[in-house]
Amino acid sequence: MIEYRNLRIALLGGGSVGAQVASLLLAHGEELANRVGAGLELVGVAVRDIDAERTPAIPRHLLTTDAESLILGADIVIELMGGLEPARTYILQAINSGADVITANKALLATHGPELFEAAEQVGAQLYYEAAVGGAIPIIRPLRDSLAGDRVKRILGIVNGTTNFILDRMDLHGDSLEEALATATQLGYAEADPTADIEGYDAAQKVAILASLAFHTTVPLDAVHREGITTITQEQVLSARKAGYVVKLLAICERLTDAETGTEGVSARVYPALIPDTHPLAAVHGANNAVFLEAEAAGSLMFYGAGAGGIETASAVLGDLVSAARRHVIGGPGVAESTHAEIPVLPISSVTTRYQITLEVADEPGVLARIASLFSEHSVSVEAVAQSVAAIASGTDATRATATLVIGTHEATEAALAATVAALDRSDVVTAVVSVLRVEGL
Ligand code: NAP
Repeated sequence: MIEYRNLRIALLGGGSVGAQVASLLLAHGEELANRVGAGLELVGVAVRDIDAERTPAIPRHLLTTDAESLILGADIVIELMGGLEPARTYILQAINSGADVITANKALLATHGPELFEAAEQVGAQLYYEAAVGGAIPIIRPLRDSLAGDRVKRILGIVNGTTNFILDRMDLHGDSLEEALATATQLGYAEADPTADIEGYDAAQKVAILASLAFHTTVPLDAVHREGITTITQEQVLSARKAGYVVKLLAICERLTDAETGTEGVSARVYPALIPDTHPLAAVHGANNAVFLEAEAAGSLMFYGAGAGGIETASAVLGDLVSAARRHVIGGPGVAESTHAEIPVLPISSVTTRYQITLEVADEPGVLARIASLFSEHSVSVEAVAQSVAAIASGTDATRATATLVIGTHEATEAALAATVAALDRSDVVTAVVSVLRVEGL
């Protein structure tokens, strides 16, 4: 039995996600109202072009180009326009007019999150953003609520579906990066300009959001170390598979202590890495996303599912809508974003991890010993060496026989690794440093 007044919902954006949110809200309004205890009235949808075709269609009388008027008088504003402006200005207007806000805008949160959360806290409003990371996958609320009594140690995430699709094609179909990207574009998994995905910008925005939430501290986007997948080759992916690994673009955040300075901090980074083919993240195929989380008491947890898609993402938005609406009905101020910990964010040089280095070397007696000593001179300990069949090098030194060495290391710092790779590059027994990949998830 609903006794509370209808809540006025304003939707900013009627694109891939917005049109699905409008459609689901109109179709399931009564059921959602029963879950909330108040009617949810969609009062309008702000778009740029009222005449544009939308899938699913939005009733024409709801469409407007006047977002500002729509925001005024709304109880809950859902921002699904994307981009930094005018989304930021509209969200601030909504908060300052007393509305709760729901957004799926990771770029905006990673860039202006602290400003928006601060504005919400000042007026006791709530900013919900479950859809901003991992599309349909519940990860924000589990971090904010379910794990609020635990201590998160580490998160390894596959949070970009486009790059996972590409790497998966390279692994399972033997495609080159270019072929896999072309297929991703054809199937609608990659945008016309795929830079944000393949260069790791999208994943970096998401890991900044996850790290801030998991470690109760502000992690600015420019403190996230970022490497994309554009240098990954078919050979690297196939030889990884032979050695029992899979290449994934990982978004990683963790608590760590800098070995040199003893500073305790958090690290947030994105790069392609090898993970054992037995790791749960290795089984994440296609454009799916997953977040693998290790907490002190809970142990390992994995959240898996569709990381994008209009209707899938709309599910997360509507979950936020039900939460926001319930808060209106129950009353009380919003819960502020908890960034009390103020833990320093450490640079990539503080990170220690394992590496797999592939070298083309002269196939001569004593070469292995010389390479091993280069590693030990730079305090990088070798765990395993595999050597492939010798070949005859081409180029200027056409008669020199070469062999391929794949060297796995124990944990080492990024700084030690960089110095080792530079020394290998200079060494006269190394014909080429073919590939350097980090190994995670061991
Ligand atoms: P989209 O398809 O490009 O839709 C954007 C909508 O916003 C369009 O309806 C557009 O109007 C409207 N819009 C843009 N600028 C406007 C302005 N200045 N004034 C009024 N309306 C404006 O975007 P989307 O894919 O739905 O994504 C929306 C948000 O969800 C983004 O922040 C995105 O990162 C996030 N997200 C998307 C997905 C996904 O799978 N698509 C997944 C997770 C998160 P017109 O239609 O008239 O052009």
